[in-house]
Amino acid sequence: MDNKFIAYCGLDCESCEARLATINDDNELRKKVAKEWSEMNKADIRPEMINCVGCRMEGIKFAYCESMCPVRQCAMAKEMDTCGTCKEINSCPKVGAIINNSLEAKERLLGK
Ligand code: SF4
Ligand code: SF4
Repeated sequence: MDNKFIAYCGLDCESCEARLATINDDNELRKKVAKEWSEMNKADIRPEMINCVGCRMEGIKFAYCESMCPVRQCAMAKEMDTCGTCKEINSCPKVGAIINNSLEAKERLLGK
């Protein structure tokens, strides 16, 4: 996958508000993202934690994406370009948690 904005799981980091807040150093957007993600994940995510340039980009990443996301860890360990090149994609529960809820992510990975 040439487009490095596309994450291993097929999500588009280019449109992610955490990335936009990071590249624009926008603290108001960091606050908005932290509030939304805290509510969504029932966690205490603070604005200063919102720093990420993208899953497959060189540079800083949100802590979850960096080291806790099972898809990113698995795809890197298998040296996959993305999950789209993995033969387990149709039976994998890890990437399934994303692509079964996002047809767009699935289509990006499968190049449709
Ligand atoms: S890796 Fe970073 S830019 Fe991509 S979805 Fe996660 S937080 Fe957003
Ligand atoms: S096993 Fe699943 S998460 Fe791991 S690379 Fe393959 S499709 Fe992606």
